[in-house]
Amino acid sequence: MESRTILIAGGGIGGLAAAIALRRSGFDVRVFERAPEIREVGAGLTIQSNAVLALRRIGLDRSLLESGQVLRAGSIRKPDGKVLSRVDLEEVGRAVGAPVVAIHRARLQQLLFDALGAGGVETGREVAAYETRPDGVTLLFRDGGREEGGVLIGADGLRSAVRAQMLRDGEPLYAGYTCWRGVTAEGGPVVPESSETWGRGRRFGIVPIEQGRIYSSCARWPKPPRAHPVSSMIVPTRRHPAPGRSRAPVREAATSRASSAVVVSRRAASWKRRRAARGLAGDLEIAEDGPISSGQP
Ligand SMILES: Cc1cc2nc3c(=O)[nH]c(=O)nc-3n(C[C@H](O)[C@H](O)[C@H](O)COP(=O)(O)OP(=O)(O)OC[C@H]3O[C@@H](n4cnc5c(N)ncnc54)[C@H](O)[C@@H]3O)c2cc1C
Repeated sequence: MESRTILIAGGGIGGLAAAIALRRSGFDVRVFERAPEIREVGAGLTIQSNAVLALRRIGLDRSLLESGQVLRAGSIRKPDGKVLSRVDLEEVGRAVGAPVVAIHRARLQQLLFDALGAGGVETGREVAAYETRPDGVTLLFRDGGREEGGVLIGADGLRSAVRAQMLRDGEPLYAGYTCWRGVTAEGGPVVPESSETWGRGRRFGIVPIEQGRIYSSCARWPKPPRAHPVSSMIVPTRRHPAPGRSRAPVREAATSRASSAVVVSRRAASWKRRRAARGLAGDLEIAEDGPISSGQP
């Protein structure tokens, strides 16, 4: 019987972290990832202090600190650079016991992938559905394959097949704006802190990540038609919308090639649904107000 084998759908940030933690606790784990290989895609992620503490529990905070960039502060600014509010992240780090770290998503994924070890992730395996049995669960794959285990963790991201079957609450909803993300080349000027510049109908964020790179994101509210299914949105990939008269680091970041993604949200799930959804991780988790995330278009 496979009752101690834990099956994880999705080899992203949540799936890999869960797999490492479960292996360290003595479970057999199998991770199934749809992508044919783990490639450098995405832009930057900010790992808050509590998440760094979680990575410490699985022995990965040191590698994170070596690979990423510790953030000293974060501010909200006007387009001319004037600071509207500022959070001292070093103070937050001291209070919580771990710093806030920014890192390229692909680098974090690789770090988790390496920690899991060879053969830790079975790539090219797209989960289509699952069936429950009295003693466990059977995963059904898009190519007709099947795998059995004791427990299933759904960590297959924003458009999760596992979540869709478990909750049947439809696809994510368009939140009314689009976000462009980009990363500058290595060796650029080191920006000491992250910031968001707020203009009319736009927000432009910069976050220093490793090796002098800047992760930037620009959110734009064209018109706010909420509650459209995401599949009805057509989103172009191009450069950031120009941020106008802005400070030098913002202008610099805005010249990087950007990919766009619609920003989505989910309606808050009922208490009953949240209870039913214990096996969901990462973007699939159901927060009180529903997670808001920028998915890959
Ligand atoms: C390619 C990519 C780039 C991203 N870039 C950014 C970024 O730059 N900045 C940012 O803030 N957030 C980014 N995100 C989102 C961010 O990674 C997540 O919001 C966050 O890490 C939560 O992690 P997660 O494990 O829930 O989901 P993810 O990290 O999205 O991982 C989900 C994984 O499941 C896999 N998957 C999906 N469907 C199936 C299926 N049916 N069967 C098997 N595997 C499946 C996906 O290929 C992916 O590897 C990106 C996500 C992806 C997939």
